[in-house]
Amino acid sequence: MNASTDDLREYRLLRPAWAEIDEGAIAANLAVARKLAGDAKIWFVCKGDGFGFGAAKVARLADAAGVDGLCVGSPEEGMAIRAAGVTRDILLFASTLPEDAARVASLGLIVTIQSMESLRAFVAAGVLVDAFIEIDPGFGRFGFLASQWAQAFAVLAQQSTVRLKGVYTHLSSPGDEAITARQAGVFDAALADAHSAGFRDLETMLASSRVMIAHPALRYSAVDPGRLLYGALDAEWMARVPLRPMLSAIRGRIIHVQEHPAGSTLGIGYAAPIRLERAMRVGVVPIGFGDGLNHVPPFGRVLIGGREATIMGRRSLQHTVIDLSAFPEAGVGSVVTIVGEDGGGFIGIDELADAMRIPVMELLPRVVRMLPHISRTRVGRCEPVDAG
Ligand SMILES: *Cc1c(COP(=O)(O)O)cnc(C)c1O
Repeated sequence: MNASTDDLREYRLLRPAWAEIDEGAIAANLAVARKLAGDAKIWFVCKGDGFGFGAAKVARLADAAGVDGLCVGSPEEGMAIRAAGVTRDILLFASTLPEDAARVASLGLIVTIQSMESLRAFVAAGVLVDAFIEIDPGFGRFGFLASQWAQAFAVLAQQSTVRLKGVYTHLSSPGDEAITARQAGVFDAALADAHSAGFRDLETMLASSRVMIAHPALRYSAVDPGRLLYGALDAEWMARVPLRPMLSAIRGRIIHVQEHPAGSTLGIGYAAPIRLERAMRVGVVPIGFGDGLNHVPPFGRVLIGGREATIMGRRSLQHTVIDLSAFPEAGVGSVVTIVGEDGGGFIGIDELADAMRIPVMELLPRVVRMLPHISRTRVGRCEPVDAG
């Protein structure tokens, strides 16, 4: 007998490690984004499978909260959002080959045209499609340069297969005034040339999350935040706006405890064995680097009953070993908090990312994608509350 994916899901929490999701965060953060964006429309970036939360899931929440449009990083994400019944405009960021232009154009998404090659492919495909042009302001990834966009606007003006609806760009250094001003200037020059080529009423969009916070004047007709709506910026940016993290906790429960007498020799986490001077009590939580955490220290802190405990050795693929010597009350079943609130203590995802020396943007999708999700409002029902 074959078990379907749905059948298997119910077994996931039998390995007790999970991510707690605050489903109200997107609506709360959208309200903050509206204040920053003024009259500008908000196109919510659901790429990377909605930063690991699930593109359809985050799109549905943003749709219900009244977002204006959605951006995706792949056709698959766009179709998952459509299958979830969301009818808002969806902008597909550059992600496909010219040879697939006809298929991509028939998906009911707004496509990105980021080069003459992609423009020619969509025109040749002959399928009526709405498009945004991407400008490269000095990011060095996608988009037309100043030497190229006039030709693109000229070609677009002479045909009717591809309907130009907008122009957007993405900045490289939102924390830097001078670079941001220079790159916004490149975008302004492109918009002036689009106007000269006869294009009016285009959506114009430049501001991702950090640009919205640091440069609210650069709002144009729309903004395209991702991380801001997930409440998942790095610590210095989180401090500047009152955001609610969609990932409210990462936790696991201790599945094994062992007492090692003084004099034992242990090579915890594949380390060179050390001889214990004193007796040690260790616990194992079933969460590891296969769940998106790191293998090699530093690991940062974990909390048990609100108190800080130490992680031992290296983390393995699916396990973390914790020193319970100072936690006589902890045992099999005790909850270990890797991120989140616990008994008056708190560890933010930004603190854990700092400890791991990676940005929140890199850590977050890794753990969120791998771990089973528990809705924050249902945590009480899914998990025993006592830590002892
Ligand atoms: C990722 C991305 C965004 C969103 O960036 P955040 O920093 O998450 O707000 C916006 N626009 C483009 C083109 C992107 O690639």
